[in-house]
Amino acid sequence: MDRHRLTQQIKAEAKSLGFDVCGIAKAEAVSKETITYYSHWTCDGKHGTMQYLERNCDKRFDPTVLVNGCRSIIVVALNYAPRQGIEGISRYAIGEDYHKIVKDKLYKLLGTIDAVIPTKGRAFCDSAPVLEKYWAVMAGIGWIGRNRQLTIPGKGSYFFLGELLIDRELEYDTPFTSNHCGNCNKCIENCPTGALCKESFDARKCLSYLTIEHRGELPENIGGKMGKCFYGCDRCLEACPHNRFATPSSTPQFQPSDELKQMKWKDWHSLTEEKYHKLFSRSAVERCGYRQLMRNISIMKTEN
Ligand code: SF4
Ligand code: SF4
Repeated sequence: MDRHRLTQQIKAEAKSLGFDVCGIAKAEAVSKETITYYSHWTCDGKHGTMQYLERNCDKRFDPTVLVNGCRSIIVVALNYAPRQGIEGISRYAIGEDYHKIVKDKLYKLLGTIDAVIPTKGRAFCDSAPVLEKYWAVMAGIGWIGRNRQLTIPGKGSYFFLGELLIDRELEYDTPFTSNHCGNCNKCIENCPTGALCKESFDARKCLSYLTIEHRGELPENIGGKMGKCFYGCDRCLEACPHNRFATPSSTPQFQPSDELKQMKWKDWHSLTEEKYHKLFSRSAVERCGYRQLMRNISIMKTEN
């Protein structure tokens, strides 16, 4: 099969698997500017205690080191916006854990490609040193907004990204070189902690990092800035005018369970460990742990 037909077939199959967008980039070392930005970001300590971001830079900066013999990166985006939000929890974490859902779909895609022409590959979703947003830009899917999220024109930024690295050459999309943020600063203005600025992002100040990734004590003054966010924070996404175009996800696993929908605000303060595991056994929230979730809930300065 020729490259063009194979590429078209892969994109059609990605769509039928439920992915909203699929783009393809040539596997090669990332740009020098990206390496410089990333290296300065970690050297400045803006990644906080996420030390894994300092490791495996040879693989992070070159996917052909991560997956030997890889030639193409198929990048997919999957809408996660739930039909109904749950107060306090970031939209992406309301449903089932996305890592497995996205990777399972990508391995199905690999199976389809392999059935057409023998192909080896590996699938990733926030699970390896892959610069996901960079590759989404290179695959022509969207641009990285000032909120540091991959933003897809006409669709917004409530999307999980996944990558399938394969040893076949394909037709490549044109990288998305324009930035549609224009003069907008809404995400920066609406960030309660000053984690965002035009040039960079400081994870150490970000509520998503503090409530999910950061172990140990939270900064003293953070409770008043959390509002009702006890797991993640969506304020820089909610402020983005491009998310006016967001539509609910058609993936049933990303909708909240009936039990989660029944939780009232006061119930969170008396959440038991047993109930926590019942609510979140299949969710990304399980990764944070009961104690940490209760740490977040207890520090919030809300009256109701
Ligand atoms: S997630 Fe919240 S705290 Fe973090 S950058 Fe966005 S608005 Fe700021
Ligand atoms: S809120 Fe404005 S500046 Fe921020 S990502 Fe969206 S368009 Fe860009």
